[in-house]
Amino acid sequence: IVRANVMITVQDLTFEYAGLRALDNVSFQIAHNTVTALVGPNGAGKTTLMRCLCGLEIPVSGNIVIDGIDVIEQPRRSQERIGYLSDFFGLYDELTIRQCLQYAAKANSATGNIVDATELIAESLRLETRLDQRVGELSRGLRQRIAIGQAIIHEPKVLVLDEPASGLDPEARHDLAELFKRLQKTGMTLLVSSHILAELEAYATDMLVIREGKIVEQRSLGVRASALRRLAIEVFDEPTALNQLLSEQPKISNLVVTGNRILCSMDGDDSQQSKLLSELIKADMQIVNFSVIERDLQQSYLDSIKESKST
Ligand code: ATP
Repeated sequence: IVRANVMITVQDLTFEYAGLRALDNVSFQIAHNTVTALVGPNGAGKTTLMRCLCGLEIPVSGNIVIDGIDVIEQPRRSQERIGYLSDFFGLYDELTIRQCLQYAAKANSATGNIVDATELIAESLRLETRLDQRVGELSRGLRQRIAIGQAIIHEPKVLVLDEPASGLDPEARHDLAELFKRLQKTGMTLLVSSHILAELEAYATDMLVIREGKIVEQRSLGVRASALRRLAIEVFDEPTALNQLLSEQPKISNLVVTGNRILCSMDGDDSQQSKLLSELIKADMQIVNFSVIERDLQQSYLDSIKESKST
């Protein structure tokens, strides 16, 4: 199926290192202006997949199209539209931060004013006071920020980041999450790999799970996206009457009673959820708490890895 707002299409992609199939017939699409968390166990093929997307590896077979350009046939042209942060990047230690950023802008054929772009990027990465410091003198976290700056200075449409938060302090990680949200707002499409799922959750809109070179799951994050939502309803007293009332609702299933609380699944949208709440209140159920249980990324990920193992 070809969707109108697709930014990345990967079709039947297979990649092999000598004697090892690292990507096995991988197909997926990524919509424009999303932030996709690429997750999977060590050795799953995340780095390999990202390198293929950026035109840095030549696969055995398959197709990759980014922003309408065939990456395998036209790697240089596609790279102008892609920003890439490698998991183990190198920087030129003899250059200053300013020189590093300006070099990256020129190497990536940046259009626009490079001097202004450098100032802007330095500011958003909180490097503005260090622009004339030599890169070789900087800490791991500061180097990480420069590498991110180099990846975004040419304003790519697609940003591919392999473990961007590794080595950063908590404040810098927070800044990074904010930066990704800002970049998304400017219209960028991001693909980010990380093992720190709680962090991805702060900004990812979609999740792509890979295991042993195969995509085992792709899903949109956020409870609102799925029709079936899990509710937790707590009452002041014994939930017997509530249980009875919920069991009679056609859209409610999977009831679990724990103490004064009932967990259930509801097939419906916000309007049906609010209708249910007002019915419960009309029926004089003494509601103390009524909430949607957000399925977090960590749980989603562990579920899909478990499911893929059992198939
Ligand atoms: P991690 O989470 O540990 O970074 P990953 O999901 O990024 O892992 P890849 O680095 O893509 O995984 O590796 C996929 C598979 O390919 C692994 O089995 C790995 O050992 C193998 N592999 C990676 N690079 C090479 C290489 N240069 N030569 C041979 N095999 C490789």
